[in-house]
This record gives sequence, structure tokens and C-alpha cells, in this order.
Amino acid sequence: MPRTTPTADAPDLSSRTPRLPVVARSVGAAAALLLDGIRPDRPDEAFRSSLPDAGLPEPSAAVTLTAFAQVARPVPTFAIVRGVRKPARVLSSMTSFLVRHPSATFLIDPAICDGVRDRVLPQLPQPMRAVVTPPADVISVTGSLDDLGIPPEDIDFALPTHLHWDHVAGLVDLPQIPIRTSRAEWEWAMGTARAPLGVVRRPLENRAVTLYELDGPPVLTFERSHDLFGDGSVVLVDMAGHTPGSVGVLLHLGEGDWALMAGDAVWHLLQVEKVRPTASFPGRLTDADRAGAMRTLRRLAALDGRIAIVPTHDPDAAARYLRR
Ligand SMILES: [Zn+2]
Repeated sequence: MPRTTPTADAPDLSSRTPRLPVVARSVGAAAALLLDGIRPDRPDEAFRSSLPDAGLPEPSAAVTLTAFAQVARPVPTFAIVRGVRKPARVLSSMTSFLVRHPSATFLIDPAICDGVRDRVLPQLPQPMRAVVTPPADVISVTGSLDDLGIPPEDIDFALPTHLHWDHVAGLVDLPQIPIRTSRAEWEWAMGTARAPLGVVRRPLENRAVTLYELDGPPVLTFERSHDLFGDGSVVLVDMAGHTPGSVGVLLHLGEGDWALMAGDAVWHLLQVEKVRPTASFPGRLTDADRAGAMRTLRRLAALDGRIAIVPTHDPDAAARYLRR
């Protein structure tokens, strides 16, 4: 088939993940889902109790955090939290966040663009596309900015926790906004002929990119960090596992109040409470390294509720940051 030049509404399918291996992996993951309830992971108390805690940064500045209102839908708990059936359902959403620092305003996980079903989803292979397609009334990032009266020109950059499609697709409507991501994540997402499963390259291509390294000291239970502004108010911490360059974004909200934006390290706080990974289906498709994801989960659980953890897809965790 001749290669065609991508146009605004005809994405370049040559970077699409090949379908057959995805179907094979999906069958394996779906079979594993049946065993989730009878073969739960053993708690690794040795790893958890051996984790040093380097404590919080000493910030000299603070930021404000705003969660964009989003449609939440109930999903079966067993499809989110491995082996857990009570409560029967939990809420899931695709929340985006706005952070204002004294010297910059940025978006964490700009999730959804207008018309995402036609403009981004076609690059995802089936059956993943069917599983992750958002409801028709999902709210785009530009729609949220409009609702809040924030001009897109106010946004200085985007800071995704990782580069899966549903954490960057909103950038399709914001072509002028640069992106900041870890070198490991960028090389994983963009450095191969075919996009890794869950990555859609269209929101990332033809865009200014600044790469950072996690070259800073341990923070809390995380081994590496990067202080974005050098003032302890926005500190990225290593949450590799879900993807190779996944980070958590630790925000100082002032007066000893902190929030740890956890991306997809967990999909719901119930996972931290019960120390359970994401369900085998779709977790085996979406986690690049299941063992690494489990270690990151244990690092989150070892925080013992000292700071607020905000998974991108948990609307209850994000609710306190909605602008009312
Ligand atoms: Zn993800």
C-alpha cells in the first residue's frame, strides 16, 4: 500500500501499532483476568519495609492546582483493580490539570481533543480502541479552558506524566504548546518504527520538546527526581513501570499541603489502599513492565497516606481540586 502524507484529519497510519500481536496479547490478558480473583499478588512486605524514605523537598515557592471538570463513568472494579470485586463499580474519568507556578502556567496530562474519536482513536489498534474509547460527551481540554475563561495563550507548556494517547491527545488542539517529558519516555514513545501500544504520535509530532533527566536525589520513597523550577514546588519523581519514563509530579500547594500527581502508576486509589496492580485486562496491554509497575505501586503504598495521591483516571481523588 502506498505511503500517504498525513493530513490534518487523516492520521499517518504507518506509525500505528501492528494489530495481530495486539490481538494475541489481548487474548492472553483476557484469560489472565479470569484468574485475577483467585491468584492475587502476595504482598511483598520485605520490599516495602526496606524502602528508605528521603522525605519531602524543602520548597521556597508554591503552586495552585486546578482539575478540569470531566465526565466520570462507572466501571466494574475488577476491570480496574486486580482481583477486587467490592465495591462492584468505581468511577473512572480522563481528567486534565492546570498548574500555576509564579513563573509559568502548565497542563498536566492534557487528555482529550475535540473529536478525539475521529482524530486520534483510529491510530489505536483493536481491541484496545474499543476498550478505551471515551464517552461521546467527554470534555476536551480546549473546552475546559474555555469554560474557565483561560486563553490557550496563557499555557506555557504541557507536562504529561507519560506519553500514552489519553495523556496528550488534548495537544492536538494546542499545536503551539511545547511539551516537557523525560528522555527515557520520549525515546520509548518516538524512537521506534512503530508506535508502542497505547501511544499515538500525532499529538507529539511537529512540536517543540524539552527533555529532562531524573538526575536529582531521592524524594519520599522514590529513587530519582527532577526539580522543575529549582525551588522544590514542582518535583518529578521516578514512577517507571507503567511506561519506561513515567513520572509522578509532586506539587507543593502551600502551607504543608502536597499533591502527588500519579498519572497511570495507579488508575484508582483503591489500588494503593489494597496494594493491588491494575486488572490483567487491560493492564497487561497497557503496562510496559508489570513488575516495575508493582514496585512503583509499593512505593506509593509506603507513603501511608501522608500526602494526597491523585491518579489521572480517579475522579474522586481529583474532586477536591475542581474549581467551584
Ligand atoms: Zn497510561
